[in-house]
Amino acid sequence: AKRRDKNRWTLFEASMDQRYTERQSMKAALREAIRTHSMDLFYQPMFNPQGTRIVGAEALSRWIHPELGPVSPAVYIPLAEEMGIISELTCCVIERAVQDARNWPDDLQVSVNLSAHDLNDRAIVSVIADALDRSNLAPGRLQLEITESGLMNDLKTAREILTELRSMGMSIAIDDFGTGYSSLSYLDMLPLNKVKIDRSFVRDLTKVPKKLKLLRGVVHLARELGLEVVVEGVETEDQLVMISDNNCADIIQGYIFGTPMPYGAFIELANKLSQN
Ligand code: C2E
Ligand code: CA
Ligand code: CA
Ligand code: CA
Repeated sequence: AKRRDKNRWTLFEASMDQRYTERQSMKAALREAIRTHSMDLFYQPMFNPQGTRIVGAEALSRWIHPELGPVSPAVYIPLAEEMGIISELTCCVIERAVQDARNWPDDLQVSVNLSAHDLNDRAIVSVIADALDRSNLAPGRLQLEITESGLMNDLKTAREILTELRSMGMSIAIDDFGTGYSSLSYLDMLPLNKVKIDRSFVRDLTKVPKKLKLLRGVVHLARELGLEVVVEGVETEDQLVMISDNNCADIIQGYIFGTPMPYGAFIELANKLSQN
């Protein structure tokens, strides 16, 4: 028994070593990709509830590792945060997104994700202002998405930054609403325009009756506060019908109408669907 344990330990150790090495090399590759601006940017369209008109798009970064292939943002975004290089990625995304959006029909908004770290440092304000200035995009066409958990560190600074951005004309959306460190007080404290309801409210919507009650409640709350409602993660016709019948969305973002796509594909779709 003793020997078997020892072997098992050795195996365990080896796999730990390997995983550590893999992680280190992933970190190095990520740093390089961000430094050389070689990450890609996809756009996921947002629609009116009928799905006939595009109202904007969310910019989502994409990374293809030279050996591992595509890596999920759910893996590399937290890694970039941990490495302290997320702000560099944010800058790239903002710069590219506002340049891209200049070529869209001019009633379309582009939405960019900010991370926790971005909201702890006032430098983000001039980064965004400069990018907008260079692109000549009207500030009202840029939306910033913030997550509830992303605000936990320093709420006062986050609020100051967001208030300034909002006063410049940008719109602010709270992302993944209803998950994580769900704190209703953010609705009161932050200068928000929109609530993006997390897709966990949509999953099982047509199977679990309680889900509809939850969704309706959250939507009601948001609208009472004068906020627009984006429902994320709508995948099926049944979900869409239930959301529409219950008047639960002002804007829909989900695979049912459009997945994240490269710039070229998005602009083609946008030109077709923006003036309907
Ligand atoms: P998110 O901000 O909530 O973005 C929406 C995610 O949901 C995207 O995943 C999108 O592909 C996915 N999605 C959209 N519609 C549907 C649907 O109908 N069904 C399902 N199952 N999923 C849907 P993605 O692109 O993998 O990104 C994951 C997360 O990574 C994002 O969640 C966001 O938090 C983060 N992220 C992605 N790009 C960036 C970035 O450039 N900067 C920052 N800070 N975070 C990013
Ligand atoms: Ca988002
Ligand atoms: Ca300008
Ligand atoms: Ca979300």
